Amino acid sequence: MVDILFRGGQIIDGTGKPGFRGDVAVADGVVALVADGIRARADRIVDVDGCIVSPGFVDLHSHGDYGILRFGHAENLLQQGCTTAVVGNCGLSLAPLPVASAASIVSQFPFVPREDRGASRFHWTTFGEYLAEVAAAGLGMNIAALVGHGTLRRIVMRSDARPADDAEVEEMTRLMDVCFDDGSVGMSTGLIYPPGSDATTSELVTLCRTIARREKLYATHVRSEADRLLEAIDEALFLAKETGVRVHISHLKAAGISNWGKVTEALAAMEQARSRGCDVTCDGYPYSAGSTTLAALLPPWATSGGAHSLRARLAEQGARAQIAEDLLREQTAWDNLYSCVGPKSISIAMCPTRPELEGQSLDDVSRRLLMPPIEALLDLLMEDPEGVLVVLHEMAEDDVKKVVCHPLCAICSDGDIRTPSRDERLHPRTYGAFTRALVGVRDGDYPISLEEMIRKMTSLPASRIRMRNRGAIQQGMSADLAIFSLEELHERCSYDSPNQCASGMRFVVVNGQMVLDDEELTEARPGRVIR
Ligand SMILES: [Zn+2]
Repeated sequence: MVDILFRGGQIIDGTGKPGFRGDVAVADGVVALVADGIRARADRIVDVDGCIVSPGFVDLHSHGDYGILRFGHAENLLQQGCTTAVVGNCGLSLAPLPVASAASIVSQFPFVPREDRGASRFHWTTFGEYLAEVAAAGLGMNIAALVGHGTLRRIVMRSDARPADDAEVEEMTRLMDVCFDDGSVGMSTGLIYPPGSDATTSELVTLCRTIARREKLYATHVRSEADRLLEAIDEALFLAKETGVRVHISHLKAAGISNWGKVTEALAAMEQARSRGCDVTCDGYPYSAGSTTLAALLPPWATSGGAHSLRARLAEQGARAQIAEDLLREQTAWDNLYSCVGPKSISIAMCPTRPELEGQSLDDVSRRLLMPPIEALLDLLMEDPEGVLVVLHEMAEDDVKKVVCHPLCAICSDGDIRTPSRDERLHPRTYGAFTRALVGVRDGDYPISLEEMIRKMTSLPASRIRMRNRGAIQQGMSADLAIFSLEELHERCSYDSPNQCASGMRFVVVNGQMVLDDEELTEARPGRVIR
């Protein structure tokens, strides 16, 4: 007797091998049998003729650290077929969270609504306590978490904007090691954001040695995604070579027209490193726009020390003028996304203090407020240094295609975890990245097989966090499944109207339980924390 029998689907098992027709039996949370014409008795038999039966997708790059606590259901990801998400990316994690550093760590999370920012909401201290809080949220999907290097640095160095000394690096390493004991699957860096941007390569070498020894993952938002992208990739590859750490480059991209095309060289450098024995992969999302905080457009010196310091600088005439001058410079030692993308191609995604500006470009905002775009930008930051998000139309479609189709690239959302709510203009990747990648294969935009695209959403990302019992459909593995008719998949969100879940996913199974049943969310919360 099995729990559910999916009968007559096209099974694409996640390994990349050709799909085949067959049945999948699920019992006690695992895949009990995969075969053609299973005769077992079942509590429920579901005819999935005409549907693809795939392992549930694994989103290696999520920023839903807080979202999962608010929206444990994870509707935006479930409706795309995701059954596991990895939070704690880009150097930002909500744990560990010692009381003395909590405010400064939380302030880095634009997805924490203002009304929730109070200390009482953040009552965990250790990584293990955070994971327990997540587990108690009632999870629609599985969650794994990286510890953020920026978080560790804030704890150890407070607001000091400088390289760490040996004792400080040692303390960060010790804290990280404890997080690994507590269940973290790796460490992430965000090397364009303070305080990560203050880290030297040698600091990273020390941390990576421990990550390698513990067999965890090093996921990195590299030091530049624009003019010095290739140098930044080299630094990540150097860490792999020097320490043996498994490296994962987050959301690989080349921002700004003058850098378009560089992803080809970046991918070639990764392939070469692999041929020399380095274990490196990347992820990417199928959109030519990126998204980050408005504050991330500023030179790192302006934002170092956090929101309070930024506000103080903006209030001081000399510092404000210096920021404006730096933003107009074309050659800078940091990623000047304002100058390389331009105000016409930067739009306001979320602006809690002035929601009426959401969806408008900085150029539009400038005309509306009758001031130059940079002054408008600085005024918005003065009002709200941490809550404003922007969408940057910064990449070439050809580059996106190359990254998304490359065999070393896993598909990711780089988004929040949520339920459609008020009409913010968040990047549509939050609701549509996985669906869009599949639709891209269906419609011929992405010249790879469906089996290969599904491998890049399942076994590839699962293997990066050493999640050995998920990411493929095989007897005995956890029953995480995404079942859909390829023809019916539809990414309903767009840049203008992004707050809509994707449609067409028919059934999603997490740990053997139906969380999406004939396109309807169920009440089941079978998700687990993956350690
Ligand atoms: Zn990032």
